[in-house]
Amino acid sequence: MPFDSLGLAPALVQAATDSGYAAPTAIQVAAIPAILQGRDLRGCAQTGSGKTAAFSLPLLQRLAGDAAQAPRRVRALVLVPTRELAAQVGESMRGLAQHLDARLKIVVAFGGVSINPQMMSLRGGADVVVATPGRLLDLVDHNALRLDAVSMLVLDEADRLFDLGFAEELGRVLALLPQRRQNLLFSATFPPAIQALADGMLRDPAIVDVQGAPGTEPAIVQRVIEVDAGRRTQLLRHLLKQHEGEWDRVLVFVATQHAAQTVAEKLYRNGIYAVPFHGDIAQGTRSDILFQFKQSRWDVVVATDLAARGIDIAQLPVVINYDLPRSPTDYIHRIGRTGRAGERGLAISFVSAATEAHFRLIEKRQGLSLPRERIEGFEPTEAAPPRVVDTSGNGGVKGKRPSKKDKLRAAAAKARGGD
Ligand code: AMP
Repeated sequence: MPFDSLGLAPALVQAATDSGYAAPTAIQVAAIPAILQGRDLRGCAQTGSGKTAAFSLPLLQRLAGDAAQAPRRVRALVLVPTRELAAQVGESMRGLAQHLDARLKIVVAFGGVSINPQMMSLRGGADVVVATPGRLLDLVDHNALRLDAVSMLVLDEADRLFDLGFAEELGRVLALLPQRRQNLLFSATFPPAIQALADGMLRDPAIVDVQGAPGTEPAIVQRVIEVDAGRRTQLLRHLLKQHEGEWDRVLVFVATQHAAQTVAEKLYRNGIYAVPFHGDIAQGTRSDILFQFKQSRWDVVVATDLAARGIDIAQLPVVINYDLPRSPTDYIHRIGRTGRAGERGLAISFVSAATEAHFRLIEKRQGLSLPRERIEGFEPTEAAPPRVVDTSGNGGVKGKRPSKKDKLRAAAAKARGGD
């Protein structure tokens, strides 16, 4: 199906063509007409499947068709969970808007950098604001923008925004928006508890789920290598050496900022251009690292889950889980940094006797059963640790403390209250 059959204006079809998009992806085919009709939508499609353009193209068309008032009032708000994703979405939107007659003003706002330039760029208003929730609220507190004219709200990586870390801020943002608006929620994953919350804020939504649809077979080969925890860095070096020339860039995920530092330093000392990437690194440096990695100036980035969501690195061949992610959802997002836009990708997970049970859980949630590999010279020798026995006396029965579900429900109630 060609782009011009989706009801998009020629200027937007032209921009898609300029971006090198020959035909719309499955999520774009399904989502664009529904969004153009003004419907709420929950869109679920695998990582790297073109979700940004799926909401940006119809959003830009709707705004362009509606003359902006002066001073401009924010008419579309795109919320994302990370600063890098805010920058990426803003850039992609500007590219797609370039041929429109209506000059739409798109402002990107995220924390970790000075607020002043963002306040300056909001002078005279903006048509679209792409932001992380915390900085958006700071800007509201500084009277740099008002959200009472927002007619379109996009939550990108929506399940992450509903999760506990963001729920409170999301509730505060929703309270500032008009009740009547179009809501668009996108992610590659919607765990059931979160989906219920998300659906609570949608009115008669179009539900688009193109996971596993024909033509969207996962392009990511998943491998699992058994190795003792203490030998992972050596194994990593071995694999990097073995695949030199073939793996031009590798994204390695670890569990903590400390691990990101130490693993990257060890690799660097061994002549591999590796750099850590985590939330304790200054924002300017973070942006530089990502930019340089995209340009192949680093061979290896060792990252925390900060890099797991949304970040689009074209033709990244390999993702390695040095430490396993906490949840099956995080696993999907991490490995989704490779195999994007129809490319092929490879995801390798290191599993030790101590983490084998956790990996089995990740596999179970995905309906997968992956063969375990051993690499010569790195065969594991450790046995699984004994299972921890519950000695609390209550047989592990949940106590009075609120469960994660209770907290989610409370956050949802709060968000709805302000909706
Ligand atoms: P996203 O899922 O939005 O992060 O997009 C993943 C990658 O797919 C990005 O590099 C986009 O530029 C690219 N992309 C988006 N739409 C298309 C399309 N219709 N055809 C080819 N590539 C696309």
